[in-house]
Amino acid sequence: MRAVDIIAKKRDDGALTAEELDWFIQSYVRGDLPDYQAAAWLMAVYLRGMHHDETVALTLAMARSGVVLALDDVAPVVVDKHSTGGVGDKTTLAVAPMVAATGLPVGKMAGRGLGSCGGTLDKLESIPGYRADLTTEQFLAQLRERNIVVSGQSADLAPADGKLYALRDVTATFGSPPLIAASIMSKKIAAGAHAIVLDVKVGRGAFMKTEADARALAEIMVEIGRGVGRRVVAVLSDMNQPLGNAVGNALEMREAIDTLHGQGPPDFVEHCLTVGARMVLLAGQAADADEARRRVEEALDSGRAWAKFRQWIGAQGGDLKVVDDPERLPRARLIEEVTAPRHGYVAGIDAMQIGLAAMALGAGRAKKGDAVDQAVGIVLAAKVGDALVRGAPLFTIHASDEARLTEAKQRALAAFAWQDGPVEPPPHFYGVID
Ligand code: URA
Repeated sequence: MRAVDIIAKKRDDGALTAEELDWFIQSYVRGDLPDYQAAAWLMAVYLRGMHHDETVALTLAMARSGVVLALDDVAPVVVDKHSTGGVGDKTTLAVAPMVAATGLPVGKMAGRGLGSCGGTLDKLESIPGYRADLTTEQFLAQLRERNIVVSGQSADLAPADGKLYALRDVTATFGSPPLIAASIMSKKIAAGAHAIVLDVKVGRGAFMKTEADARALAEIMVEIGRGVGRRVVAVLSDMNQPLGNAVGNALEMREAIDTLHGQGPPDFVEHCLTVGARMVLLAGQAADADEARRRVEEALDSGRAWAKFRQWIGAQGGDLKVVDDPERLPRARLIEEVTAPRHGYVAGIDAMQIGLAAMALGAGRAKKGDAVDQAVGIVLAAKVGDALVRGAPLFTIHASDEARLTEAKQRALAAFAWQDGPVEPPPHFYGVID
């Protein structure tokens, strides 16, 4: 086979066979295909899409590009969650310890920022010393000993996704349903969790802009997971405005720490409790949804989730002095409060524009391998539905230089829509696919 023929076939809207996809993926992982051919193929897939069977075959090829873990000897049920990507989506940082504190093992392979969406690993690395590069043996050992582990893809787990993910980020090919489904599900299959909760984001700041598209993506991921014998459920959650208040790596870490101390923003706390309860229910650790929710709430309110967070971060080399005193997290040189330009109700906060403003500050990557600035970002002081008077705090920008601050400020101000009369905030969730 030749890569150029496979690229041309997809460019011309052909359906690739399982053999072609497997050959392409394994050749790329071995280093036999250069990034430029993989990038051309990604763009062809982005523009032409994939049929259901192609998406399933791509996912399995990517999962099989490395080791597929079997976790049965770690625990009878290991649970995982994954978000399709959002702005201010720091859910894993808080929900993983909440669920692990109920006694359920949480083993998660997380990713870096993608486009305007932040990445869990970038946020975790705002804690000095945190190691996101565990080997498979270390991943398993920590899961056994601490009941919780969140690491990046080790070289041997779904390496195809590791390579393609970084390439998609810098070739404007991230927002493609088959590529998202294959990326997420190949990692989930390889990492071995028995029960997986997918958080599929819908709205302006999400890859899926409409509920129908998000539902279609959720359905295919649930189907792929079940096809290989995993328990999978997907929730559709709002991403029209950012989740919580903080957008930016260290700023989001701070918000997650506050949340674990019982001081999180209401929408983010609700999000974590709902996703956490789904994880507990799916793992069969509660008789019904109410009991699952009570167990997660109790883990949070009792302080056990916080203790579990410290245990987790400490086990992965993170500096606990920083965790205990978040003032020590990376801090931007310039911090400016921006106030409301008018009286009125906040009718919308375009999450995509806020994500792009955070990227303009340096919170994300412009090209593969770029370092992210941990300290920069935006903290909202108002959410959709709030009534403000002119001059009231609207958001705070954390920047490393004046030019970036000015650009981000303009972008973020333009993200706000206003209305004279009261506004109904958007729902947190649009449905569940189970
Ligand atoms: N998360 C992933 O792991 N992959 C994607 O493509 C999007 C979100």
